[in-house]
Amino acid sequence: MSRQLRPLLRVGQGWDLHRLVEGGPLRLGGVDIPHDRSSKAHSDGDAVLHVLTDALLGAVGAGDIGQHFSDTDSRWHDADSAVFLEEAVRIARDRGFEIGMVDVTVLLERPKLSPHRAAMIARVSAILDVPAELVSIKAKTNEGLGEIGAGEAVAALAVVGLVAAGQ
Ligand code: MG
Repeated sequence: MSRQLRPLLRVGQGWDLHRLVEGGPLRLGGVDIPHDRSSKAHSDGDAVLHVLTDALLGAVGAGDIGQHFSDTDSRWHDADSAVFLEEAVRIARDRGFEIGMVDVTVLLERPKLSPHRAAMIARVSAILDVPAELVSIKAKTNEGLGEIGAGEAVAALAVVGLVAAGQ
């Protein structure tokens, strides 16, 4: 027997990795972070905004970032990834959900992100149109191991919690 319950809570997760190439700045969380390397990508390569976009789309079963914003589409060449995240937020709200929280972990050997955390949280909360207290951004190194540890890549993970609007 199928049950027709409409869930009040949704959870989505996202994962992304970008190769780092010569020449900064490094764009993360909508902020240009001074560094001698940047993310190689079709868009601005903002792994934090990409994982949030994927997590939001996943939470409402709306596919993934590549489906909505193909990396072969010239419209998205060097695009500000805020455009992708704003669209994912619009889709989630269209489907009747509001953002309860987002939690991001960035894996990056250098530079240290702690001096930029407040700016990233402010920018992400503005894009999501939620209070900053609902946004968490954490950073870890990879203990010198692998491509991330060698400073050749940045990775990010996100979890988002959505609540049915009006709850
Ligand atoms: Mg990406």
